[in-house]
Amino acid sequence: MIRSLPFDEGHDIFRTHVRKFLDRECVPHVDQWLADGIVPKEIWYKAGEAGLLCMSQPEEYGGAGGSFLHTTILVEEMADALIEGPGWGLHNDIVAPYIENYGSEDQKQNWLPKMATGELIGAIAMTEPGTGSDLQGIKMTAVKDGNHYVINGQKTFITNGQNANLIIVVAKTDPEMGAKGTSLIVVETDDADGFKRGRNLEKVGCHAQDTSELFFDDVRVPTSNLLGAESGQGFIQLMEQLPQERLLVGVQAVAAAEAALRITAEYVKERKAFGRAIADFQNTRFKLAEVKTKVTAGRMFVDRCIELLLEGNLDVTTGAMVKLWTSEMEFEVMDECLQLFGGYGYMSEYPISRMWAGARVQRIYAGTSEIMKELIGRTI
Ligand SMILES: Cc1cc2nc3c(=O)[nH]c(=O)nc-3n(C[C@H](O)[C@H](O)[C@H](O)COP(=O)(O)OP(=O)(O)OC[C@H]3O[C@@H](n4cnc5c(N)ncnc54)[C@H](O)[C@@H]3O)c2cc1C
Repeated sequence: MIRSLPFDEGHDIFRTHVRKFLDRECVPHVDQWLADGIVPKEIWYKAGEAGLLCMSQPEEYGGAGGSFLHTTILVEEMADALIEGPGWGLHNDIVAPYIENYGSEDQKQNWLPKMATGELIGAIAMTEPGTGSDLQGIKMTAVKDGNHYVINGQKTFITNGQNANLIIVVAKTDPEMGAKGTSLIVVETDDADGFKRGRNLEKVGCHAQDTSELFFDDVRVPTSNLLGAESGQGFIQLMEQLPQERLLVGVQAVAAAEAALRITAEYVKERKAFGRAIADFQNTRFKLAEVKTKVTAGRMFVDRCIELLLEGNLDVTTGAMVKLWTSEMEFEVMDECLQLFGGYGYMSEYPISRMWAGARVQRIYAGTSEIMKELIGRTI
């Protein structure tokens, strides 16, 4: 399919560079990462050296001065190489933008260059054991004491939760004020007294990705770690950034579905039943035709949303629609593709099994499908 995105020769060179890096530094280690439930910090440093961290951040803060197109390339190549594990998308395009967009000059100078090298690994901690979709219900507090905030509470399901050492927490700085009393505060966890990580949670899929509980017991951070000029801006900041976060899910969903179509098409041409290749059954051709059509529709929707984002025009509703449609499509595609692998599709050694399990969570995080429908429904 001819793509409408403004990729130029520089992007093509970058794509080749990314692919070489992934083939050399990641592909040989994926099985080990899956067994370990985490990727080593070393791969973060290597990604930093290769210019794959903070690609969209300005060069004056250690970034590469690129755009969401560079993100798109990295996500697409990771999906095509069947790599899972490194939470670079979250680090680059969710955590770093909060600092870039709401951080003071000092905060940007302090944190972004270290995020670009991999010295600081980012996470964002919104969800708590008692609340996920309904973020207004969070219990974590950050109480001012002189020139510090004292943070108390618990977070869960936090991506990069074991490796991260720069965590943006969503906390109530003024509990009486509800959503208007919620703020984003950066916690540098190296040497943070009272901060503890819980288990690296066992999950249905995404086995190479560390996902954790985090505990904060009188953790003191300077008030200068608040993101934004004043407290109480947390919900506005979250709402402003969520369209990009949700589009990132869409980019990942379409890229993964494309990869699934490719490996499934290869498999059904090889595998035989009743004296013919599985690919020769009309059912297989029809199923793959449906898959290809859905993937193409998803690609056009996502690419249009990338254009809107680059123009600064991706709104909350469109961000919700692209997340809803592509994540649901991805899971349908994975399920159809797995079926065409027969029993082998259910075996962990076949990538389609982990792609299927990985697709499942895309309908849950960054706002569930039901919450997306609520957001969209309100605009009708
Ligand atoms: C692998 C993984 C990684 C994650 N990474 C992060 C992370 O890095 N940072 C972070 O903060 N969080 C993270 N999360 C948490 C994720 O964002 C939440 O799980 C998600 O927002 C849902 O919240 P919940 O689990 O509390 O479900 P709940 O909010 O309890 O929802 C349960 C069910 O009720 C439905 N529901 C809730 N409200 C409504 C409503 N108003 N109308 C209709 N249905 C509704 C939901 O759609 C869902 O089906 C991650 C989760 C997973 C599984």
